[in-house]
Amino acid sequence: MTAIRPLVAGNWKMHGLAANLAELKSLQDLLAMEPQPAADVMICPPATLLAQARYFLSKSDILLGAQDCHPDSQGPHTGDISAEMLADAGAKAVIVGHSERRTDYGETDAVVSQKAGAAHRAGLAAIICIGERGRERQDGATLDIVKRQLDGSLPPAATAANTIIAYEPVWAIGTGWTPTPEDVAAVHAFIRGRLGDELGGEGSAMRILYGGSVKPSNARELLTVPNVNGALVGGASLKATDFYAILSAYSGTGGRGR
Ligand code: PEP
Repeated sequence: MTAIRPLVAGNWKMHGLAANLAELKSLQDLLAMEPQPAADVMICPPATLLAQARYFLSKSDILLGAQDCHPDSQGPHTGDISAEMLADAGAKAVIVGHSERRTDYGETDAVVSQKAGAAHRAGLAAIICIGERGRERQDGATLDIVKRQLDGSLPPAATAANTIIAYEPVWAIGTGWTPTPEDVAAVHAFIRGRLGDELGGEGSAMRILYGGSVKPSNARELLTVPNVNGALVGGASLKATDFYAILSAYSGTGGRGR
């Protein structure tokens, strides 16, 4: 079986002005050094910076991603941005169903599935976020929640090329807390099993990222867990040196997590 090439994606959330694009230049310089990480690298800046970031990254392997999209391709949706517009601005992927959007805007699994379908329509990969809240973990409901969100959020025709799953325990996002490697392994193995049941070979080859307080000090421990095929990184992606230190977990490994 071919190893899955990991992806480390940085989610800048609602952070970043034009001046912060200098971090992309720094990241590019760091990535030019040896040893180079055996992983794909993506930055998801706010939509306002996508077009400029594309210019900054024109000679780089760093991929551009966006943070959300509307299900429709165009129409009377003031303030919204379609997947086609993101692709036009240079994005190759879009995050959908992040817990902050599920919480702030009441996004349901059905909406997340529509957004992932919109990403595919526009030729973007969909990074679908799922994960339990703290209370749900305490109640022993983690796998039930993950199963429900995964089944409800996966659009028809999801493939390993057009879909990435990000397991992000909500209680670990931005808190500094993380599950143990054993807990991460259990959830990722469960997701891998479901994906295989639902999508066969495509599910076996699909990337499953871990997200939630990944930082330089814990990256190697979390990213070498079986079935962890990379990370979705929030806070620690804002500084090139921190993000590069996380990527270094993949230096010289040739790709791990299978
Ligand atoms: C996220 O919001 O996707 C995330 C993982 O954030 P942080 O790394 O800051 O916990």
